[in-house]
Amino acid sequence: MIPSVLPTYNRAPLSFVKGEGSWLIEADGRRFLDLGAGIAVNALGHAHPALVAALTEQAQKVWHVSNLYQIPEQQALADKLVEATFADTVFFTNSGTESCELAVKMARKYWYDKGQPEKTDIIAFEGSFHGRSSAGIAAAGSEKMTKGFGPLLPGFKHLPWGDLEALEAAIDETTAAILLEPVQGEGGIRPIADADLKAIRALCDDRGCLLVLDEVQCGMGRTGRLFAHEWAGITPDIMMVAKGIGGGFPLGAVLATEDAASGMTAGTHGSTYGGNPLGCAVGCAVMDQVNTPAFLHGVNRKAGLLRQKLEGLVAAHPDVFEEVRGVGLMLGLKCKVPNTEVVAAGYDNLIITVPGGDNVIRLLPPLTLSEDEVADALIRLDAAAAQIETA
Ligand SMILES: *Cc1c(COP(=O)(O)O)cnc(C)c1O
Repeated sequence: MIPSVLPTYNRAPLSFVKGEGSWLIEADGRRFLDLGAGIAVNALGHAHPALVAALTEQAQKVWHVSNLYQIPEQQALADKLVEATFADTVFFTNSGTESCELAVKMARKYWYDKGQPEKTDIIAFEGSFHGRSSAGIAAAGSEKMTKGFGPLLPGFKHLPWGDLEALEAAIDETTAAILLEPVQGEGGIRPIADADLKAIRALCDDRGCLLVLDEVQCGMGRTGRLFAHEWAGITPDIMMVAKGIGGGFPLGAVLATEDAASGMTAGTHGSTYGGNPLGCAVGCAVMDQVNTPAFLHGVNRKAGLLRQKLEGLVAAHPDVFEEVRGVGLMLGLKCKVPNTEVVAAGYDNLIITVPGGDNVIRLLPPLTLSEDEVADALIRLDAAAAQIETA
């Protein structure tokens, strides 16, 4: 008999009743150190006082009004994002995959309005993830996500990750945009080199196509800059955001330059819930916490410490781990045993990590993780690896 919850997930036998900072707690009191953060969502950990205050204050005022009206909280969050980034304008969604939908529509409409309607194709990369909507799965293209769901949205080409020669050859008069994650998340924590991202930006400028970045997982301070592309010193034309931007409240956004967004006039796109007062009040609180030099400096400091300790872990357990990879607090441990075994051994030792592609376990802790918690995480990961070695 089919379960009452549609069984599209293989769920771990864990059930949390409370969250506090970097910790998730089960009903029996067992406390797990959370290096998953709901897959890079709980950027400020669980039950952060500033977010609880923002949510409860807004809940007592007004939850939902519709985008038919002015929404001051939405305006405030858009202003903060425009002030802090390359973007001139922002559309709010409720998730990453909705941000993908708009990014694709915006890129196509741009060229249509410029009198080049043949430019509809989007070049994306193997190993990418852009969500589970029809555009999202077509954009990522992997058989795992698309099989049985055809006909797929047309107009996507897929190239090997980071292959600049193939990219140069693939761009033609139908190319509307190049779409990529500066650090592939689901694909197994695979960063693109800064020099390659610079080269892709230059290619877009030379060949006349838009650069669309998916920073749903790597954005909002995760890599130690507000957005990951800042490390390469470039800016995109369009950027998808979600996950960390709401700190656990469902919130996403598409950020764009004035030029890239120029086709999106009144009536061309919409969302009932996107940009609602509750989500945007929380989003403002997240931005106020994350977007300060001191906070981002702290992310980099802790990231350096965690990475250094993880290098030691890999050296100590060469039969379990192959390497550490990633940027900031978006780190991956490439495993030599099945990654799901390592994640399960982590559960036994009260630490949560997230499996990813390429046999990697992902470490995506709350950005508020303390240095003591970094040390604690290493003790637990070490015990998990030892457990696998003696099994
Ligand atoms: C999670 C993710 C998405 C999809 O976000 P949802 O909120 O699950 O729709 C898209 N792109 C990237 C890079 C992601 O990590």
